[in-house]
Amino acid sequence: MVSPDSLEILITEKEIRRAVKRLAQEISRDYRDKRPLLLGILKGSFVFMADLVRLLEIPVEIDFIRLSSYGSSKVSTGKVRVVHGLSSGVRGRDVIIVDDIVDTGLATSFVIDYLNKRKPASVKVCALLDKPSRRQTDVPIDYLGVKIPDRFVVGYGLDYDERFRDLPDIRVVDD
Ligand code: IMP
Ligand code: MG
Repeated sequence: MVSPDSLEILITEKEIRRAVKRLAQEISRDYRDKRPLLLGILKGSFVFMADLVRLLEIPVEIDFIRLSSYGSSKVSTGKVRVVHGLSSGVRGRDVIIVDDIVDTGLATSFVIDYLNKRKPASVKVCALLDKPSRRQTDVPIDYLGVKIPDRFVVGYGLDYDERFRDLPDIRVVDD
């Protein structure tokens, strides 16, 4: 069993805080007279979402969608499935997808398509982390926290086999 103390810290709590604050400022500015629907992708985005909404200076609504997970592997199967769909209507809404990390891009682009079928007024993507080296499909990230190298990371909501989501910072799990 890997102990969390043995994992190298890639992004500290302070750095995360700074990035989330900047994203909240950008979103608050761009949506000043609006009330966007923040759509978190579970489970990975739950910590990010909780911090982000508390730093926003505009009123928002929140919903979550849960996609099928990786299982216990570090590599995406590429097959995305909705496990738990939307409970709010998105027609005519300004939607911001809140994602933990864009890796291959398959999950996020699936959600963009899923939303566009439901005729929102606009769809933007806010991602805490971007791992561009593994991209398989083009994903526009409108609000990006931190770009990271091709390493498997955990903490701040992200897991490896359901472990380490509770870590306050982002750490690396090497093979
Ligand atoms: P995708 O490959 O962009 O479709 O990413 C789908 C999901 O895989 C992300 O939202 C994360 O939940 C998970 N994921 C991708 N890379 C990592 C990682 O380095 N650590 C933990 N989860 C990851
Ligand atoms: Mg995710």
